[in-house]
Amino acid sequence: MEVREKAKIVITVASLVAVTVLFVAEYRRRHRKKQTSSSLSSCYLHSELKSQFGFKRVLADNSYSEFKHLKLDDASSSSLEKSSNGHPYETEITVLLENPKIEFGFLRGEYSLELSDSYVWVETELQLKELAEILAKEKGFAVDTEQHSLRSFLGFTALIQISTHEKDFLVDTIALHDAMSILRPVFSDPNICKVFHGADNDVLWLQRDFHIYVVNMFDTAKACEVLSKPQRSLAYLLETVCGVATNKLLQREDWRQRPLSKEMVQYARTDAHYLLYIADSLTAELKQLATEDSSSPNDRFHFLLEASRRSNMTCLQLYMKETEDFPGSAAASSIIYRHLNGHGDNSTVSLNAEELVRKLCAWRDLMARIHDESTRYVLSDQAIVALACKQPTTTEEIYDTIAHTDLATESSPSSSSSVQSPYPVICSHLGDIYEMILEKLAKLDDILPVVLTKCLGTNGTCPISVFNYSLLVNFKTKLSSHSAPKQNGHKNFKQQFTRKASRELFVKKFSCKAPVYHNCRIYANDGRLLCYCDKRKLEWYLNRGLAKLVEENPPAIMLLFEPKGRPEDEGNDFYIQTKRNICVGCGEGKHYLRYRIIPSCYRVHFPEHLKSHRSHDIVLLCVDCHEVAHAAAERYKKKIATEFGIPLFVRRVLDSKEAQGTSSLVEDESTGNSEDAGVSPLHLRSAAMALLRHGNRMPSSRREELLQTVKMYYGGRDISEEDLEKALLIGLSPHERRKLERKKGVSVKHSAEVAGIDKQEDENNDGEAPTDSEKIMNVERSTVADDSGDGTSEGDGATELNDTQCNGNMLHQQNSKLSLLGHGPHGKQIVEYLLREHGEDGVRDFCQRWRKVFVDAVHPRHLPGGWNVSHR
Ligand code: AMP
Ligand code: ZN
Ligand code: MN
Repeated sequence: MEVREKAKIVITVASLVAVTVLFVAEYRRRHRKKQTSSSLSSCYLHSELKSQFGFKRVLADNSYSEFKHLKLDDASSSSLEKSSNGHPYETEITVLLENPKIEFGFLRGEYSLELSDSYVWVETELQLKELAEILAKEKGFAVDTEQHSLRSFLGFTALIQISTHEKDFLVDTIALHDAMSILRPVFSDPNICKVFHGADNDVLWLQRDFHIYVVNMFDTAKACEVLSKPQRSLAYLLETVCGVATNKLLQREDWRQRPLSKEMVQYARTDAHYLLYIADSLTAELKQLATEDSSSPNDRFHFLLEASRRSNMTCLQLYMKETEDFPGSAAASSIIYRHLNGHGDNSTVSLNAEELVRKLCAWRDLMARIHDESTRYVLSDQAIVALACKQPTTTEEIYDTIAHTDLATESSPSSSSSVQSPYPVICSHLGDIYEMILEKLAKLDDILPVVLTKCLGTNGTCPISVFNYSLLVNFKTKLSSHSAPKQNGHKNFKQQFTRKASRELFVKKFSCKAPVYHNCRIYANDGRLLCYCDKRKLEWYLNRGLAKLVEENPPAIMLLFEPKGRPEDEGNDFYIQTKRNICVGCGEGKHYLRYRIIPSCYRVHFPEHLKSHRSHDIVLLCVDCHEVAHAAAERYKKKIATEFGIPLFVRRVLDSKEAQGTSSLVEDESTGNSEDAGVSPLHLRSAAMALLRHGNRMPSSRREELLQTVKMYYGGRDISEEDLEKALLIGLSPHERRKLERKKGVSVKHSAEVAGIDKQEDENNDGEAPTDSEKIMNVERSTVADDSGDGTSEGDGATELNDTQCNGNMLHQQNSKLSLLGHGPHGKQIVEYLLREHGEDGVRDFCQRWRKVFVDAVHPRHLPGGWNVSHR
């Protein structure tokens, strides 16, 4: 080597060393400065690179906005966006459900069951495109996914394993996150069967991260179900079908790791590699069972179809972000319920602790979103409880409380890793907790905007990312819609919480206890699906020997005779849609109640045959949407009343003698427009009932308010207990009065008995006078309670089959409806008027008006397909 060259090298090395030294010194200097001057406000994320921070864009970010489902047929462009928020491939999947494509023999010719030495690691766009081309030529391929959830708020897919007859592919979905659309077409291609095992989560994760929708699936777990295998786990199938043992503990590994360890590669490949073989083996079993079991030549139903149907039902699932009334409120309620109720008192200490739990949960939720961490990686439930109970007052004490609590709890999330509790978010933002405990951040609704501004605002402490950038924007709108400006925030939140508590109570008591739609199926004798219906209808056919049971759960029958008509003959596919047990307004699936789109006060007076398509106009709504729909309906009733000149309310009467029955309603001409002049029978009765029951126990102001209502009815004079009892009967027809008296025994005579007899209703009021909202709820509650009686007959669509049964129900229904919702004779008069002036078309138009009212008020996004305003 020449001297000059040597010198060059020496100089280069020297300058490199110098630069490095300078750099390190500067870094240390900055770092030290940061640590000393503002160790509590600098965020750990400035020096930690998380793998998801390489994603250029994410479909599900950490803001409160809802997830958008999109149909992007073309992998590259967004030209074909179809953004309703239903399932973008509902049509394609429904077609498959009705006409399943069954693939047999995924494996052709020679096939070695053993895991070979080679597999393909896919990490570039080019490789991914090549994979897509290979898959497009297959008639089926196997899929599994691994996701990471500890260091992410919503979790993300870290690996997709795909196996074909020839090869195992491991797709690095972290490196290829922004290019995964390349695989959309093969996943939504109904001609290519995707074989999964237990696909429920995978289907949702693929939607969430890549807008990949699976159309045409065979789920080997569903096949196990149909075959009634003793176990349904993949480990079981691997062992019994393939003779392969697995260590499922590896599923909890950190799948972000690169390169993957040998064991992880082995595990990941194993999860997909054997699926095609297993699928072939199970389809053979299913086919076998079908031939053994088919007793009748007409029996087209078979097990393979069923396994396929159940698999494709999984594809219909939709990913949704979890929503809460207020950030962290669900976790807070759960913690308070599990850990703080032990105190069992209402002392200021425990109320204080509760308040702190709410604050900490709200803070934790927001911090998890901002930093894209799971909430458990921010702060554990146990630590929240400890902080709330101890309320340490220095940052050191706070730190120790969290550290000790988590050390004592074995299930800390990263026990295996080097990171110890308190986790980085706490370490960087300990000051917030200090302020929450010391009441510097006293108001719950202050915490979020303050923290958000502190973290992400101008000069914010934490990095902005694709996960959190829309949080600021969304949050402002969320807050402004949340808190009315006129009120002091804290009070407002108290109100929200009481409102929330009463809402929860209401949901618990009055929402439907079991799924409304049983989604039982009736097949024609040629195997065509006729309709979905409830259990009772199935039984009706079975008991008469008109059908045979072809499946147990959910049950399906096949008719033994040729039905008069097919639903498709009438061009109406509404009744062959399976109906989902969710709120048709917002999609809420945890609770729902029935809602009648055509108010009962009119509907009960319709001619019988116009009521027949009842299931169309009874939908499921969550309490919130129910409230919106109900309020709109009440407003519209007033409009109808004015339009037709038929008042809603009972007019004021001047003399108690005239108030003894429905016949004595006296028009008060002087008030002109009746709306405000009268008191509705419903209001009158509930006021009277509350006074009779709880009059001497309720606060005097409330008592006075209720008395005013009753007094208004009696023309302002003082009223006696007897007047209250009589008021219970106002607005009822003689028949209804007799019914009420029978129900209550002879109780209307004596208040003590009135209070005693209706025990059940009494419980609902918990011994307190009803508030205004409860009064409204009373109405609805009764409606719901009433519905449950004949619920099954209205559960599902299809044409009504059993008239006598239904008529019986109707009679019962009419009476109770009248008494509870009746605006005296208003409904009856309106319907009579319509029939007289416009005939049945008048009634049909009237129904359409109500459907429009409903749609305009609720903007329902989940109405079953085929539902429409002009339904006949
Ligand atoms: P698998 O396909 O069974 O390997 O599971 C797929 C993904 O589900 C894993 O990558 C994990 O993220 C998650 N998962 C499944 N079971 C568990 C578990 N018991 N604990 C933690 N994560 C799990
Ligand atoms: Zn931070
Ligand atoms: Mn797996």
